[in-house]
Amino acid sequence: MHFVEFMQLNGHQELAVWTDPAVGLKAFIAIHDTTLGPSMGGTRIWPHATDDDAIMDVLRLSKAMTYKSAAAGLPFGGGKGLVVANPRTDKTEAMFHSYGRFVETLNGRYVTTEDVGATAQEMEWISHETQHVLGLPESLGGSGNPAVVTGYGVFQAMRACAVAQWGDDSLEGKTIAVQGFGNVANSLAGYLRDAGAKLVVTDIYEAARARAAALPGVEVVGPDAIYDVVADVFAPCALGGVLNEETIARLQVPIVCGAANNQLQDEEADAERLRSRGIIYAPDYIVNAGGVINVASEYAGPYDRAAAMAKTGEIFDTTTAVIQRSRDEGITTAKAANDIAEQRIEAGRAK
Ligand code: NAD
Repeated sequence: MHFVEFMQLNGHQELAVWTDPAVGLKAFIAIHDTTLGPSMGGTRIWPHATDDDAIMDVLRLSKAMTYKSAAAGLPFGGGKGLVVANPRTDKTEAMFHSYGRFVETLNGRYVTTEDVGATAQEMEWISHETQHVLGLPESLGGSGNPAVVTGYGVFQAMRACAVAQWGDDSLEGKTIAVQGFGNVANSLAGYLRDAGAKLVVTDIYEAARARAAALPGVEVVGPDAIYDVVADVFAPCALGGVLNEETIARLQVPIVCGAANNQLQDEEADAERLRSRGIIYAPDYIVNAGGVINVASEYAGPYDRAAAMAKTGEIFDTTTAVIQRSRDEGITTAKAANDIAEQRIEAGRAK
């Protein structure tokens, strides 16, 4: 499908393109919807092979941000930025100054922050050219690394799933299978261990597996074995697309609840597969909203970590509401989450 047709079908408002050959920059910004506030979403740095791939990626990601912020009750619409570059080898200060000027041309309709491939350093460079950037280092009054807050939100969503599945929020003695042991998983693991849970962890990187193995009460398995672990919760905290026909059939857990974005390879079909197996799936964008809630606190200013944590705690209630709605209406949790987000946007539009 051509991207203009895709935009019309999905209700996108705007797609902006910026090139600056002098600094080797090609970038796109997609604004999906600004009904609830300025469009907000990170800038991804990724070397897409074709412009079409890059544009479809930024369009899809911007729409997901509209739903994530609406469901979390934040005054933001959905947007996303994409710098077409290799984050390991191509990033330069001049490139991000130029990108900051691109963000500035949108006059605050788009507010950026970090995403895959970006760090607080690039946000600082962008901030030299525009004020519409969040996720600055704490030393500059920003909200710093969001993973700590995101991990707390995943823990709260897991408690809500426990209530829905077992009638009790306690995770004591429960076994949690964690896929990927990066920033968010490290934060989550701290909360889980404090709650008395047992962890089975995997990562594709030996160093990350070694870090996990050094923790008391943590078992480490190979990357592919994680799907077969008999556990109480499967927590995808690595990449997207990990839940599909093949992996869902292997799962030996009653709950899936983790931080990774876009966990379902096919949103409708895979959510239905999980539901028909009696597995509670906590929708990813509900679970991992701690990151955007954290930058929302920076946007409101001054950044307040305690307030961000308190608002992230509400992920417990949102997850509960999503599961309840899916049960009441006999629909998947993915559909229930989308319906809640769409209702909020409609209500905002009616104002
Ligand atoms: P990270 O890069 O720190 O950690 C990801 C880890 O997953 C890495 O250690 C990597 O080696 C591992 N990994 C990659 N592929 C794997 C595989 N196939 N099997 C096992 N391990 C694998 O990233 P993060 O910041 O911890 O984020 C984790 C996920 O949560 C991502 O999907 C991210 O988009 C999402 N997320 C993060 C935040 C945040 O605040 N950082 C917020 C919202 C969503």
